[in-house]
Order: sequence, then C-alpha cells, then structure tokens
Amino acid sequence: MGFSTNLQGKSAHEALLGRQEAELRLMETMRRCLTLRAKCDREYAAALTSVSTQGLRGALEQQDLLAGSLVAQAWRSAMEEIENLGRLIRQNADQLEEEAVKQLSKLQMDKRKARKEYRDGHAKIASMFAQLSEDVARKKGEYYKSLEAYKVARMRFEDHYVKSGRAGRKLDEVCDKYQKACRKLHLIHNEYVLLLSEVREFEHEYRTVLLPGLLDCQQTVLEAGVEKWQSILLDAFRISNFSSMKFQEINGKMENGIETVQPTAEYNAFLDKYKTEPVSPVSFIFDQELLEDISGKLQPDVVAVDNLTIDWLRNKVVELEAGLHEQQFMLKEKETLLAQVKTSSSPLGHICSSEVGSMQSQYSEERTNEKQSSVLEGSSSPSSATLLSLQREVNDLKCCERKLKHLVEVIKKPLADLGCEEAPPGCDLSMSLNNLTSEILDNTSEPQTPNLKGSQLFKDKIRAQRFVTLLRKPFHRKSSLTQSCLSTPMLEKRVIMRRGTCDGGRVVQDMGGGTRDISGLEDSASIEDNHKSGLADEEWFHGCLPREEVVRLLTQDGDFLVRETIRNDERQTVLSVNWCGPKHFIVQTTPEGHFRFEGPTFPDVKELINYQFQSGLAVTARSGAILRRAIPRERWELNNDDVILDVKIGRGNFGDVYKAHLKPNNIDVAVKTCRLTLPEEQRRKFLQEGRILKQYDHPNIVKFIGICVQKQPIMIVMELVPGGSLLTYLRNHAAFIPLKQLLHMCRDVAAGMRYLESKNCIHRDLAARNCLVGHENIVKISDFGMSREEEEYIVSDGMKQIPIKWTAPEALNFGKYTSLCDVWSYGVLAWEVFACGGIPYSGLNNTKAREKIDSGYRLPAPEGTPPELYQLMLRCWEYEPEKRPHFDEIYAIVDKLCLTL
Ligand code: ADP
Repeated sequence: MGFSTNLQGKSAHEALLGRQEAELRLMETMRRCLTLRAKCDREYAAALTSVSTQGLRGALEQQDLLAGSLVAQAWRSAMEEIENLGRLIRQNADQLEEEAVKQLSKLQMDKRKARKEYRDGHAKIASMFAQLSEDVARKKGEYYKSLEAYKVARMRFEDHYVKSGRAGRKLDEVCDKYQKACRKLHLIHNEYVLLLSEVREFEHEYRTVLLPGLLDCQQTVLEAGVEKWQSILLDAFRISNFSSMKFQEINGKMENGIETVQPTAEYNAFLDKYKTEPVSPVSFIFDQELLEDISGKLQPDVVAVDNLTIDWLRNKVVELEAGLHEQQFMLKEKETLLAQVKTSSSPLGHICSSEVGSMQSQYSEERTNEKQSSVLEGSSSPSSATLLSLQREVNDLKCCERKLKHLVEVIKKPLADLGCEEAPPGCDLSMSLNNLTSEILDNTSEPQTPNLKGSQLFKDKIRAQRFVTLLRKPFHRKSSLTQSCLSTPMLEKRVIMRRGTCDGGRVVQDMGGGTRDISGLEDSASIEDNHKSGLADEEWFHGCLPREEVVRLLTQDGDFLVRETIRNDERQTVLSVNWCGPKHFIVQTTPEGHFRFEGPTFPDVKELINYQFQSGLAVTARSGAILRRAIPRERWELNNDDVILDVKIGRGNFGDVYKAHLKPNNIDVAVKTCRLTLPEEQRRKFLQEGRILKQYDHPNIVKFIGICVQKQPIMIVMELVPGGSLLTYLRNHAAFIPLKQLLHMCRDVAAGMRYLESKNCIHRDLAARNCLVGHENIVKISDFGMSREEEEYIVSDGMKQIPIKWTAPEALNFGKYTSLCDVWSYGVLAWEVFACGGIPYSGLNNTKAREKIDSGYRLPAPEGTPPELYQLMLRCWEYEPEKRPHFDEIYAIVDKLCLTL
C-alpha cells in the first residue's frame, strides 16, 4: 500500500498536503514544548540549588548544637546530592535544547521543503496534461471550421460547374478555393490526428509514470522524516528522564546517607558535649515585701480566712472538689484504656468488646490521627506513639489531680481549723485607725511649724482622727445614758453570770450578791427558732445586735453573749466571746437538728451554752475560748415583745412610725420600725439614729429609749411627742399661733441645736418637718438619720438625698458639713416657722433655688416677721460659713426677742 496507487485522486492530493501541514504544526508544538520543558527544568534546577543552599546553611547555623548528629550529617550529604541533582537537571535541559530542539527545527524545515517540492511537481504535470487537453480541443475546433469551409468551397465549385458547365475564370477561381479548402482540411486533419496521438501518449505517461513517481517519492521523503522525528523525540525524552541511571545514583546516595542514621547513637556526641547535673528544684517564695506596708492580718503563704473571704473560700473548695472529681473520673478512664491498649498488642479480642469499643471510639474521636485510631479499632497492634500519647495524658491528669488535691487541702485546712468559729473580720478598721491615730498623736505632739497646720498631711490626719472618733463614739457607755429616762427593774437588772459551781448539773449564777438557779437552760423548745426555744428570754441573748456593738460589750476575757446574724439569707446563732480579743462561734446544726460547737451535741442552744459555761471547756480547741461571764442585754436593748404597737403615726425613710406601749414602763412611746426587706447595710444605717440619740439628754431633743433587736422588725423606741411634726403643726394652726409662740418655737430649736453643737453633732437635716411638737408646744429636734458626730464632716458617697433648699452652699458644693451648715438650715426653719409652714423658694425647683442662692438671692421675710429675726435669718444665710452666728449667739438673740416682744 503506497501513496502512488492510493493517493492519485484530487481529494487525496489535497488531503496529503493538509496532512503535511498538520505535521508541521505538530512539530512546531513539540519544538515549543521541548523548549518550555528545558526552561522548566532549568528553573527546577535553580530551585533545587536554592533548597540545597538553604538546607546546608540551616545545618551550618546549628552545627555547634548538632555536632556529631548523624541526622544532620545525613541531611548535609542529602543537600549536597540535591545540589548535584540540580546541576544534572540543568545540563540535561541544555542538552535538550541544544540537540533535540535544534534537530526538530531542522526536520521542520526539511519537511516544509519536501511538501513544497511535491506540491510544485504535482502542479507541473497537472498543468502539462491540462495544456495538451486544451490543444486537442482547440485543434478540434479548427478542424470543424476547416471542414465547414471545405464544404462551402466544394458546394460552390459543384454548383458553378453544374450551372455553367464550362471552364472559365470563374470556375477556376471556385476550383482553386475548393482545392485550398481541401488542402487545409487535410492538413488540420493530420495535425489533429498527431495531436491526439501525443495526448494519448502523455495521458498514459501521466497516470502510469509521472504521478505515481511523484507520490512515491513523497512517501519516501515523508517516511524518512518520521524516522528522524521519532529519533529526535526518543532522544528528548531520554535526556529528560528523571529515572535515568544518573538520577538513580543521586537518589541512592541520599538514601544511603540517611540510612546511616542510628537513633540510639544520634545523641551520643551531644550527650558528651552538653552533659549536666540533674535540674535542681526551684522554689517559689512569697515575697514578704508585698506585706510590708500592710498592718492587716495577711500572712505570707497563708490563706486569709476572714469574713471577707470565707464565702469565697467555701465556694472555691466546692469548685475545686468538683474539678478534682472530674479529673479523677477522666484519669480512671484513661488508665483503663491505657491498660487495655497495652494488652492489645496481643489481639484485643479478650477484652469485653462493647466496653472497649465505646472507650476506643471515644478515644478515636479525640484523635485525628488515622494511624492511631486504626490501632485502637483493633485492626493492628497499638503503635508506641499511641501508648506514649496515652501515657502522657495519664501523667498530665495525675499531675492535675495532685495539684487540685493540694489546693483543696490548702483551703480546707484553715477552714477546718476555723471550725465553727465565725470568720474574723478581714479588715479591722478600728485597729488600723488606732495606728493612724497614734501616728497623728505622735506627729502632733512634736512642735509644729505654723504652716504645717495648713498642709495636706495635717488635714488628712485631722480628718482621720475625726473618722476614728466617729467610729468609736456610737453606743459609748456614757453617764448621761445611765441617767436616762428608763428605770424599770427589768432593764436595770444587770445579770452577771460567772462560771458557777456545778451542782448536780445545776448551774448557779451570781446576781450581784446572791445566786439564782439558771438551770432553766434545759428548756426544750423548737430547735429552729431561738424565740420559740426561749433563747430570746435569756438576758445574754442580744438578738441581731450588730457585731460592732457586741464587741464593745465584751470587755474582759471570758465575757460572752449570744446573738443572731443573717448570712446569705440564712439565720445563724453566734456565740461571741472575748478571749484575747473577740471571737465569734457559729452554732453548728447537726443533721438531726441538734446543736454543737466541737464537743457534744444538745437539743437546744441554751443547753449547749450552759454546757460550755459549766464545763469550763474551750469552745474550740483552736481558740481556747472559755465562757466565764454572761453579758446581759444593756438597758437600751429592749425586748421586742415588751413593745406593743398601737397606731401608725407617721412614715419614715426606713419604715413606719407607730405610737406604741412599752409594757415594763407602762408608758406610751413612739416606735420607728425598719422594713424587713431592707438589706443588712440599710438596717445598720437605721440603727445609726439610735446610736446618736442615746447619748443626748435635752428637753429640746427627742429622747431615745432603746432599740429592739431581739427579732424582726428591728425598732427604735423613743419618747412619744404627741403634737407630731412641727411642719404639720404650723400648717394646721397657721391662723392661731401667736407671734410669741412662734418665737418660742425658734428658741426651742436654737436651744436644742446649741446643745448639739456643744456635743459636736451636726444634724444635717434640720427642718420644720424633722422637729416635733410636744406638750405645751415645746419643740423637740428629731430625725437624726443623717446626723454625724464631728466638727466637720465631708460627704464622699454622693449627695442623692440632700434637702437642697435647707442645705448651706458649702455643703452642696463641696460636701463640707459643720454646725454652721446647721445654722443655715436653722435660718430656713425659722423662715418656715414665720411663714407658718410655707414652702421655701416656692415655685423654684432645687436647681433653680441653688442658682439663685449662689447669685445672692435670699428668701424674703414672711409677713409679720420681727425685723430682728429676719436680720438673724439673713446672718444665718451668709454665703461664707465663718460669717454666720453660732447657735449660742442665735439662742441669745432669740431668747432676748422672746423676752422683749
Ligand atoms: P425617718 O427619720 O425614718 O424619716 P421621721 O423621724 O421623719 O422618720 O418620722 C416620720 C414621722 O413620724 C414624723 O414626721 C412624725 O410625724 C412621726 N414621728 C417620728 N418620731 C416621732 C415621735 N418621737 N413622736 C411622735 N411622732 C413621731
């Protein structure tokens, strides 16, 4: 099968030309791709060189630490081989371009030339054949024309000859033309015959020799070209073969180098070079300097257990123990799994399949590593990595467990040591203030330079000193109190319970000369409620008397009392004992509902206290506190049950005010109650008024009778001032109050305030609404809820509840309170009196009133105000406090007015 016989047709000729064209294009593609390949290889070679350079540099940088490392050595030789690899690839790329690509270009040229020759050769013989065919057709046309001309000439001759029948010139002419046409016809006939013969010969040659010869030749050329093409491609791919011997040699060298690594010998040289002693323990020491400036109770490295931290510590223990249990559970699981995985190097089959399966799947979830999970699925024996990993997890969990256990111990021990003892106060303000006071005294006893008095330090110290005074003053036992209005036998009775003699389980108590049986302690009442159990009847039960008051009552070692406290909404009964300082023990309740400290349990608290008292045993081993003397309630600590509330007569800030009957004294009293819903802090503030009032005894100051803290609601009991508030009185009696009475009212208030000023008490809320009208219209100052006992009081906790229209500018602007602020308020009160309960700065809101006062405006004199009194009011409203009169001057002025008018 060859070109010559099969490709003679026209379409085959055209296909052959097309095919050659396609081959040329393919060749061009190959040439471009091989060039590209060479380029890629060169780039790859360059990248490999860079890899090798970096690899070698990296190894070089670490060569000190890696000295003697077989891995590093293998790496270096591998990097060198990579360099060789790069070099080889670069050489091959050059060769590919130099040889294969160039040869392919040449082959391309040859092929293009051969195609041209074929095309030209074919065109040439085809045009020769066409030419001859054209000649035949033309000759045939001439033949036809000549034949026609001959026929015409012959017909004319015959016609002429027949018609004329005689020779003549005309006949000769016709005959001559006839002969010429005949000759021409014959000549053309011969030419036509010869031409046909030539064409026939050429046509045979064309088909049998020329065209086959041309195709044959083309086939030979093409096939030779393909052979060359093949060999070029073979060369190209051999050159760029990465699995050739040379490459294999390089890879072999790399592998051999790496095979020289011996894990067990790897660190020998390193160990020789860097061998050290085992790590010595590091100690973390509490930096004592942290506590140098703190005079409090914090001890280095000791957990502070006090009322500030006790709840936190208890919660922390619970939290830590929960964490510990969780860790222990996880540890147990992991240890089981570890044991199972260890034994599973022998098939896992012998382990309870479901159990292991669940643990394993759980473990598998945790692990993303397919290899490890496949091990756990039991498809193969566990890898050492799995075992090590599990072992590590177990170690981590153990470590965490130990840490948590230790932390729990660190907290639990001091909590256990504390036992039932109430946590001590974390911040002993009075103690630190004591230090501060002594510091002040030390400093002030030194000779002062005149300008030191104005210094900030001096001011701070004076302020601190006042603060200390403030803290110490409340509930001082003062002689004035002992002379107070109450003198009932019950309240005056002072029960001194000493450690009595034990007589057949009966305890006797000294009653200031005699003894009384107090075995009533055996009373068995409800265990839940101190009141139901009769505890409240005990003289040494002080109800919810605040801790600070309790501490003040316990003066000697062994002094004790029982009280109640509410902590986290839970009522606790507390035994407070003075034993080298105040100690507070929370009565513990057993699950059976009995009571105890550290010793035996008792069905009620009274029995427990009785036992502690008569046994002479320490309440707790840690404290060593022994009960020696029961401290009874003070006369002002009234029993709630002795106060019978009657009608509500007013409403105060903390709760309602009632008219009440005090049973033991058989007198009517006024009782301020404290709402149950108020928080502890507010309840303390409520009692503040009682603390202040109980020290004062003056006809123009409402009298304090006592507080009821035995149970809720806590109450302040005061003398009943029947006329109610001065403001209401003024408004209700406006038309009927004579001028003299108004002046007397002002004098009464001035008298009360003169007394308070002498006691360094700043009322801070002096106003008609806070004064009460008593018998014979005597006015008494009341509502000491905002009062402070000091010369100057600086407010720092906001001014939300300030009665703006009654308050002096320096108090509003700087929070600075002195008795001279009360003087300002007194001026407003006097104005209210003469305005018969009018509203000061009426029509102005607080802000506007402040602005007007600051701009110099003052209330105008109410109608009928004596000019002297209005002058006094204006003096009370001097912007500069120093320019205002003090209360003794005010009293003198008003008193004089009372006498003269
Ligand atoms: P708080 O100080 O809680 O605001 P107040 O002292 O203003 O309470 O008392 C509220 C009202 O109760 C007074 O306006 C007055 O009517 C009445 N009140 C207060 N104390 C007495 C008292 N000792 N005698 C008669 N009524 C009183």
